[in-house]
Amino acid sequence: MEQLVYFDYAATTPVRPEAREALLRALDGFGNPSSRYGFGREAALGVKADRETVAAALGCAPGEVTFTSCGTEGDNWAIRRGAERNRRRGKHIVTTTIEHAAVLETCKDLEREGYEVTYLQPDKAGRITAEQVAAALRPDTALVSMMLVNNETGVVLPVADCVRAVKAFDPAILFHCDAVQGFLKVETPLARLGADLVAVSGHKIGAPKGIGALYVKKGVGLRPLLTGGGQEDGLRSGTEATAQIAAFAAAVQAVSGDKTRLERTAGIKAYTLERLKEAIPELKVISQGDAPHICAVTLPGYKSEVVVRVLGDRGICVSSGSACHRGKPSHVFAAMNLPKPWLDGALRLSFSPDTTRAEADGLAAALKDAADTLFTTLS
Ligand code: PLP
Repeated sequence: MEQLVYFDYAATTPVRPEAREALLRALDGFGNPSSRYGFGREAALGVKADRETVAAALGCAPGEVTFTSCGTEGDNWAIRRGAERNRRRGKHIVTTTIEHAAVLETCKDLEREGYEVTYLQPDKAGRITAEQVAAALRPDTALVSMMLVNNETGVVLPVADCVRAVKAFDPAILFHCDAVQGFLKVETPLARLGADLVAVSGHKIGAPKGIGALYVKKGVGLRPLLTGGGQEDGLRSGTEATAQIAAFAAAVQAVSGDKTRLERTAGIKAYTLERLKEAIPELKVISQGDAPHICAVTLPGYKSEVVVRVLGDRGICVSSGSACHRGKPSHVFAAMNLPKPWLDGALRLSFSPDTTRAEADGLAAALKDAADTLFTTLS
């Protein structure tokens, strides 16, 4: 692979060495955790230990953690089964217009099944308040779904305050939090947010793709989405992905053990923004991001897809929004009501604790060059 300069850690992250080692070890011990003989039991013990590791990082009991195939599965499960669990209350759901497609498309699907969904609009900075959530609640509200960290702006939404507002209105309303971009990127262990359901994903923190987890608060009693052999305590059938689970736990342990990672990530993001502003006076910051690893900038008047391609040709990876949009304009930036030229030129930059100043300098130089060249060809 060519040498990459990577500023797209919100899209996915490289697999950490600890995760790779754990993955290979678990592939060798290939037993099925449901098998009753020795190495089946060993596989089951491995999954048990891995669940304890993930639970410790989430700040919950191991019994509250179910492994899933990805964040999308966790979001689907939480929203579909959470809404269904409260159907007797009614068929009203509250969410926001800036959620990931895993939440928005699930809500749209439920609308086709007769649910009514209130989509809360952010302000110009991409923020949603607990007052907005409280004002949207109704006697027939079954579920509220709100992300913790927006994947395009890095804005941290006030989930704990929103949970309090929802539970004050009626403790029976379920609260789901898509924390895929927040897991190990904010200080608070996610179970302490107070939400009933929290979805996380491995590939954002150095585990391979294809593994995630859903926290289901004790007593919530969510029906499974996948039925079958009754694995995961009957909550998620399908033979456990032992190798991915082992890699996920190893990544969680390695990241949790890196105590200065949030500061280092925030530091390199601030440095990069300064360098970019110095090098390219027309560059504007859409969002500095409260979370340490994400920010959004724009080159008003330029086309971000073209800028992304030009940088990509030089081995520099940035994104024009969520990787899941594949070239469509970002619904998040659109919801923030940005002026059209800002919308067209929007770029998301995302960082790891190991992003270097040399990489940031390289990005600033390449983006300045791209802007100069594109300006000449456009004018
Ligand atoms: N939610 C958010 C906020 C995300 O950023 C993503 C992925 O980018 C997802 C959900 C989906 O996670 P996964 O890729 O594990 O399905």
